[in-house]
Amino acid sequence: MNVDVLAIGAHPDDVEICCGGALARLVAAGRRVGILHLTCGEAGTRGTAERRRGEAERAAQILGAATLDILDLGDGALRTGPAEEEAVIEVLRRRRPELVFAPTPTDRHPDHGRAHRLVVDACFYAGLARRGAGAPHRPAAVFAYMQHDLFEPSFVVDVTAVWEIKMRALDAYESQIHPAGGGADAEPAAGPPTKISSPQTRRMIEGRARHYGNIAGVEFAEPFWSRTPLAVDDPWELLPRGLR
Ligand SMILES: [Zn+2]
Repeated sequence: MNVDVLAIGAHPDDVEICCGGALARLVAAGRRVGILHLTCGEAGTRGTAERRRGEAERAAQILGAATLDILDLGDGALRTGPAEEEAVIEVLRRRRPELVFAPTPTDRHPDHGRAHRLVVDACFYAGLARRGAGAPHRPAAVFAYMQHDLFEPSFVVDVTAVWEIKMRALDAYESQIHPAGGGADAEPAAGPPTKISSPQTRRMIEGRARHYGNIAGVEFAEPFWSRTPLAVDDPWELLPRGLR
């Protein structure tokens, strides 16, 4: 099945945490959204690859994603060679997205920066008729979402209307992420505590969305970065709604 938008993350739960709201909004606007996890998350401290696959399927369903692809490119060992490029090109040519969401060029987890390079390169190469099998297809844009490291956003997406959907998608990752509304001792029985399983991370996700929302004059927003300037037909569309 073809999609309009493909959100690509290094690990299961990356795209839900970082751009789950934007995905839910795109779905609400009638866009067909797909999710691609580049690895199975097998190197995570908690949960197994199998359990994380089930959680990824539930999260994709909650966000309204039409497709979910999970590659096995090596959690904690992601590389960016020709074989990995071929694997991503195959998904791009099969799903044919116009818009791709990806990690930033550098981030705390080395897999994230490598995933950025891999996705950007694969998006270009997928458009070359003489590169590999399948009908060529090059997405029109790759926008990066914010993970650990900060950047000055090129734009933010108002996700206030779909915030509860994003929270439910995060709850699907019960082996990884602290449950919404759970107390400090509401640890799921999935293994030792980790940075992402702490209540602080859950609060950070909300705090960051409130921070960028506040700057843009809405309640919750997700920040994105574009390597190139963004052209608009109608600057009026860019007027902030809640700021004067
Ligand atoms: Zn990750």
